[in-house]
Amino acid sequence: MSLSEVRAAAPDAQVGAGMDPVAATFDLLGDRLTLAILRDAFLHEARRFNQWIERTGAPPAMLTSRLNALVEAGVLHRVPQPTAADRHEYLLTELGFATWEILICLWGWHREWSPSGALQPELVHTECGHRGPAVVLCRGCDRTVTPHETAVELRPDAVWALGSSGRRRSTRAPEAALSGRDMFTEVMVAIGDRWSAAVTGLALAGIRRFSDFRANLDISPTTLTDRLNRLCSAQILRKADGGREYRLTPRGRALFGVYAFLLSWSALAYPGARPGVMIRHSSCGQALVPALRCRGCDARVDRAAVVFEPLPDLAQPRLG
Ligand SMILES: [Zn+2]
Ligand SMILES: [Zn+2]
Repeated sequence: MSLSEVRAAAPDAQVGAGMDPVAATFDLLGDRLTLAILRDAFLHEARRFNQWIERTGAPPAMLTSRLNALVEAGVLHRVPQPTAADRHEYLLTELGFATWEILICLWGWHREWSPSGALQPELVHTECGHRGPAVVLCRGCDRTVTPHETAVELRPDAVWALGSSGRRRSTRAPEAALSGRDMFTEVMVAIGDRWSAAVTGLALAGIRRFSDFRANLDISPTTLTDRLNRLCSAQILRKADGGREYRLTPRGRALFGVYAFLLSWSALAYPGARPGVMIRHSSCGQALVPALRCRGCDARVDRAAVVFEPLPDLAQPRLG
């Protein structure tokens, strides 16, 4: 078999290094432990293996595989520590620091839309004292963006790219290997595997009917039914129009920020790759490059200007 025949037989090989960047992003970041690693790196300056073991309770082999994947993806930088008990430190790279907004949106979603969200530490904008989640703004026009003011555009030939399983995390241990629940448990229904992520993303793009989901995804009816049912059980979608449509609930629509930042991060992480999906801000016509804005003072919010304040008098002071 010639190389071209091999490539023709394996669609994923055609994109080679340029696997769909959005799918690759969900494969990497749509993972509870990976997100917990990043959260602890930001919030607790975790940088050593044992710090993450202590905080996450993850099985060591599972943590090793996630750290390796993050190093390989350029999110963490491994620094040898020859004299220390831990042989390496893992530091956030510039690309790693760029996941901050994704985590803020995940925290905000959990804070507002999960029964256990009230136990989360509160985000405080130190410049104005405002407490609570930020909103998404469009860097192109500096206006606040809601999902209603955006159009999600799918590249016509990207159908298989979104859906094909490609290089799945073969090293991925089952979710059950992680004990307990944390702030990322519930959102995994939506972003924890590529099919669910694609179905939720299409719903955010305005897709409602079973046949339209199928038309945009190379997905079997059984798998699609399974994901739609899971998303309905998780109150991210609901059935409408006598069961013929699946519509986002407010809880589902509130995932917009998470998706906006995941998509924009994928462009940073995989520069040069053509994404199969993009969000356009209809109000200004530009491709959405999102940023966060404080609801209290309208200023843009960055890492340096916020703190997480543990809520007083609660039995669960730990984030997660
Ligand atoms: Zn705009
Ligand atoms: Zn503010």
